[in-house]
Amino acid sequence: MKVFNIAKADKNEIMTEVFKSRAIAVGSPTVSNSILSSVAGWMEFLKQLKFKNKKAAAFGCYGWSGESVKILQEQLKGAGFDVIDENIRSQWNPEEEDFAGIPALVTALIGEEEAEDEEENDSDGKSAKYQCGPCGYIYDPEKGDPDSDIAPGTAFEDLPDDWCCPVCGVSKDMFEKVK
Ligand code: FE
Repeated sequence: MKVFNIAKADKNEIMTEVFKSRAIAVGSPTVSNSILSSVAGWMEFLKQLKFKNKKAAAFGCYGWSGESVKILQEQLKGAGFDVIDENIRSQWNPEEEDFAGIPALVTALIGEEEAEDEEENDSDGKSAKYQCGPCGYIYDPEKGDPDSDIAPGTAFEDLPDDWCCPVCGVSKDMFEKVK
């Protein structure tokens, strides 16, 4: 799962990820009975690209009236997305009870199995072990690599680019994730 701030991120980069994804969730606060202009502009771009066979969900917050979610859902439909009914609408700032609706939304969006996979990935993402292709050495984030001044608890992804296998000396890109 990837998260982007539409107002700040490169719009083309977000679209590349939308292209690669099966489902997206778009959020916006309600501003003057509408959505944020940055989101509106991005939605117009999204429509032009005519994506097909992708699911979408909307979420947002509001003060007095909460149109943003409905507007987002309609625009996503207009852009060719299969929009699910599940959504998250919070009044003022999101609170615990609003977050409680997230698992149901994710399941509706990507299916039960995928949702579970996503959870597992999140939990072991930083603790994944990687094995060196040529020599078989396994990098274990729990231990780190004290000989190269890598502290225990350093995820493989966070190793410096010039880090290399302490046994055979090949670079990081020769390593593969251990399943
Ligand atoms: Fe090696």
